[in-house]
Amino acid sequence: MLCVSNELLKDAREKHYAIPGFNCIADVMIRGILDRVEKLRSPVFLMLFPADIDENTWWYFSSMVHAIADHYTIPIVLHLDHATNHDDIRIALDHGFTSVMYDGSSLPFDENVEMARKTVELAKPYGASVEAELGRVGGYGMETAGNAVSNILTQPDEIVKYVERTGVDSLAVSIGNAHGIYPQLPQLDIPLLKELNAASKVPLVLHGGSGTPDDQVRAAIETGICKFNVYTDNRVAMWNCFKTLADEFDQFERGDPPPAVYLGRLQETVGDVVEAKATLAGSIGRV
Ligand SMILES: [Zn+2]
Repeated sequence: MLCVSNELLKDAREKHYAIPGFNCIADVMIRGILDRVEKLRSPVFLMLFPADIDENTWWYFSSMVHAIADHYTIPIVLHLDHATNHDDIRIALDHGFTSVMYDGSSLPFDENVEMARKTVELAKPYGASVEAELGRVGGYGMETAGNAVSNILTQPDEIVKYVERTGVDSLAVSIGNAHGIYPQLPQLDIPLLKELNAASKVPLVLHGGSGTPDDQVRAAIETGICKFNVYTDNRVAMWNCFKTLADEFDQFERGDPPPAVYLGRLQETVGDVVEAKATLAGSIGRV
């Protein structure tokens, strides 16, 4: 069923686990994720990433998720990831997203506060939850190879002011994590996270969860991370699966390999990434 995130994240914070969030697009990914978390009894965030949205995506994605959500018994949060403007936030809310992220990490502190506060105001009548970002999670954009942005670590003294002034429900922090593929292994600043978690009234979120060594993710979750975002690991796994499938089905005697077979394999590939991440997050069996 579709849910807002507040109660779920509260439970995660109390019991020291995290809820995995997966960026996804198209039926094959959505089904790969939901079929697996249903089996694992794990809550989940289904996240839509702005760079993946074309004009039909809003209604297609949200209609599909709304149509299938009640067939699953686990809590599903329908979440807009990394919105940088209020138009996208409004559209998502009108399409029944139960959670939105406003990303003001490229703005000066006061402007970030103002935009996040406005997002909370917009979301309130819909009963939707709001995630924001303080500091800046660096790394590569999800659609291009170049132009990595650098990290700006989140400061504990800013968190208190930020949460108070914005009223956000959860907060993405920058502790050495980055988006996309890591050129070298990240080193998460766990002592900083400890300070941030102590200063924050709201649950903290880790972006750039792909490619981070498991022991570091585990330490971050033990130290207060309650939501853990994954996209790149699914993208890499799906792409490798595509290449294997192309090789295998090149040998197929007819020129029309059955979609149920190859799409099914992609779906299982997504499911396997989901299972690995839910295991790491400690979210299995929490429903
Ligand atoms: Zn992110």
